[in-house]
Amino acid sequence: MRPERLHHVYNVRDPQIEGPVVYWMGRERRVADNPSLLYARSLALERNVELHIVFCLVPTFLDATIRQYGFMLRGLEEVDRDLRELGLGLRMLLGTPDAVLIPFLHEVRPSIVITDFEPLRIKRLWLSQVTEALPCPIAVVDSHNIVPVTVASPKQEYAAATLRPKLRRLLDDWYDDMGEGSDAPWTGRRSQIPAVNWSTVWSSLRVDTSVAEVDWLSPGEKGAKGALQKFLRRLETYAEGRNDPTLHAQSDLSPYLHFGQISAGRIVREVRTLTASDPKLSASSEAFLEELIVRRELADNFTHYNDRYDSFDGLPSWAQQTLDEHRSDRRDYLYTPDQWEAASTHDELWNAAQHEMIRTGKMHGYMRMYWAKKILEWSASPEEAMATAIYLNDKYELDGRDPNGYVGVAWSIGGLHDRPWFERPVYGKIRYMNAAGCARKFDVKAYIRSQSSNALFSR
Ligand SMILES: Cc1cc2nc3c(=O)[nH]c(=O)nc-3n(C[C@H](O)[C@H](O)[C@H](O)COP(=O)(O)OP(=O)(O)OC[C@H]3O[C@@H](n4cnc5c(N)ncnc54)[C@H](O)[C@@H]3O)c2cc1C
Repeated sequence: MRPERLHHVYNVRDPQIEGPVVYWMGRERRVADNPSLLYARSLALERNVELHIVFCLVPTFLDATIRQYGFMLRGLEEVDRDLRELGLGLRMLLGTPDAVLIPFLHEVRPSIVITDFEPLRIKRLWLSQVTEALPCPIAVVDSHNIVPVTVASPKQEYAAATLRPKLRRLLDDWYDDMGEGSDAPWTGRRSQIPAVNWSTVWSSLRVDTSVAEVDWLSPGEKGAKGALQKFLRRLETYAEGRNDPTLHAQSDLSPYLHFGQISAGRIVREVRTLTASDPKLSASSEAFLEELIVRRELADNFTHYNDRYDSFDGLPSWAQQTLDEHRSDRRDYLYTPDQWEAASTHDELWNAAQHEMIRTGKMHGYMRMYWAKKILEWSASPEEAMATAIYLNDKYELDGRDPNGYVGVAWSIGGLHDRPWFERPVYGKIRYMNAAGCARKFDVKAYIRSQSSNALFSR
């Protein structure tokens, strides 16, 4: 692993080299293509010490429901099985890191802890609590971004246009540094790892069970690889079809990427290999890699460098100003939180998108923009609109509570990474969208029909 992938190393002043290496798995919940795991393995081998891999399961997390917890836990069960086959294993610690990880670390007295880079505030808080309480070094590895976020740019970028050239310059140097070999059989010191009691794990959850798990995609690394293979077979349709919610042209990889069940580097490699053998895929491949690399890494850039990523104060100043100037504009409709959630607006298209999210856990990407912009148009203030969109997104989307989600909401409602457009009521200079624009892109009636029946699109 290239040393620049180490995002930060804390507590370096007093290193001891005797104890085991601990990999505190966070965002990267996979065995294959995992630079954090690869680094932890190489240190344990070099020092000839045991390697412990731990995951801290908190009983509730940022409005996540059984839909998201189920997807994550089923993936972790697979991680545990796969690690045991390699001669390793997973320890599940039930509780918050300060309550359960810190005592565990005091007990095993590691020489170093390796963990995953995560930009969200709550994850940073956990990291700082653990760092303060630990006597050993703790190294944070950016295994999420192909070009690590701090290498790509030292500051918050204005837009895709400013990050894109920086990434382009660096990408070729980083493609081969995505953790290949992290799933090799373990040849280092063995330790006794108690079997995980998964029924105790499941019963430790304190989450909303009214939002059901979905069965149209299978959680875990194998499910992710299967979804990728299916997508590669329809890659050719991506460039033309990705903005049409009546087609199935998007990859459906966001839940797997969000839960760290597949590495973006692996996806890029497979897309590039296929495209090299079939040049007619190049337009789709380019369009897809723009989303997967530039847009996704831009979201990590924003959440890493801007602590206010989910609020009005985090928006660009031109956007705050224009939204402020239109605060007292008359709204044609105003909805209560219950009306939004129940998809009871006057607009059939908006309701269909909300239904798609509630039912499948994945609203089509094009509809997400329309959906969030209408929440701005029909809410009393931009703050209320952001809070509503984030609440619904995080509760129902499988890929919610992700930098991409906070950025998607801030882009739609608050002009983030966008530019000022023509001024109009309520929106000010924020880019506008309406149903007529959607009708020019796709068959709106067919989309509405599909979401009011119980049939899923042929996923
Ligand atoms: C209001 C709003 C909310 C959103 N909420 C989320 C969310 O909670 N989680 C989430 O992962 N994405 C979110 N997005 C971004 C985008 O809509 C989804 O990533 C995409 O629709 C996921 O489907 P896919 O994997 O089939 O996408 P594909 O089109 O196949 O794209 C492949 C991958 O590229 C990345 N990507 C695609 N579009 C974007 C984008 N606009 N910004 C950043 N990365 C992108 C994702 O990792 C995605 O999995 C949101 C966008 C908006 C406008």
